[in-house]
Amino acid sequence: LSQLFRPLDLLGMVYRTIRQGLIDMEAMYKLIDTQAEIADAPGAPMLHVEAGEVRFDHVRFGYDPEREILHGVSFTVPAGHTLAIVGPSGAGKSTIARLLFRFYDIQGGRIRIDGQDIAQVTQHSLRASIGIVPQDMVLFNDTVGYNIGYGREGATQEEIEAAAKAASIHDFIMSLPQGYETRVGERGLKLSGGEKQRVAIARTLLKDPPVLVLDEATSALDSRTETEIQEVLRSISRRRTTLIVAHRLSTVVDAEEIIVLDQGRIVERGRHADLVRADGLYAAMWARQASEREDMDMEPVIEDSF
Ligand code: ADP
Ligand code: MG
Repeated sequence: LSQLFRPLDLLGMVYRTIRQGLIDMEAMYKLIDTQAEIADAPGAPMLHVEAGEVRFDHVRFGYDPEREILHGVSFTVPAGHTLAIVGPSGAGKSTIARLLFRFYDIQGGRIRIDGQDIAQVTQHSLRASIGIVPQDMVLFNDTVGYNIGYGREGATQEEIEAAAKAASIHDFIMSLPQGYETRVGERGLKLSGGEKQRVAIARTLLKDPPVLVLDEATSALDSRTETEIQEVLRSISRRRTTLIVAHRLSTVVDAEEIIVLDQGRIVERGRHADLVRADGLYAAMWARQASEREDMDMEPVIEDSF
């Protein structure tokens, strides 16, 4: 009989979640977990991340089976390295990030972390190993301390504050009337784009995942805030396998590998200097952004969200 009520429970949960404005990605994934579509294989083992190598092998995927979005994408991010994904809007960059989190199952190929097929391990263990800093985070309607502490169950106040300090948001929080107890979100204090992102970074630092996915923020950040945030992101991606979806190419010049995605295909790959020399799509994007940088000194670019 309880089976009968599950769909109703789920519906209620979705409703409450939407009502509370908890359109947080991890929360959404949790809801999706409960649906049958993406199921754990029977007796699925946990993912064991040792080094944290991420590998896409001829990955094919479409949200709608009739319309394939990724047409056989392959890359390897060695443990601790950074892979930057760049390319025009709609190329499939965020889709790659979503697939690594197993938001959807792929239609061809294989995604592996340390040799383990992510479709064959428990979703819980997979998602516990990956930290995502989305472009535009929606906060829980709760205290700012809760929003950071969500990164790790049972985190102490000291750990939360240490993460906030590392994300350069501690001083700001201390300046609020109720400090860490200040309520934020839709029904609380509205934080700026940069502040929300720092909360997301603090949460991720607390989670301390071996694999990191960054959908680079460009929207709503002034250039100083952006530079500061990039500094923090650079430091948390050190020694951690990182996939970064980069909009501003100036942030990927140091990446060990850059892949240029266009209409679901990798059309160029290499390091920054090689790609500029190749004089293709990347070089054109670089030249365009260079002239924009001169023209308007980092005017915010509005991008679609993760
Ligand atoms: P990018 O991040 O490179 O801008 P995306 O990965 O978001 O591109 O999207 C790639 C393609 O997939 C686009 O054509 C987009 O319209 C489509 N797409 C993205 N999300 C969905 C979705 N949830 N349902 C159907 N199509 C989608
Ligand atoms: Mg995107």
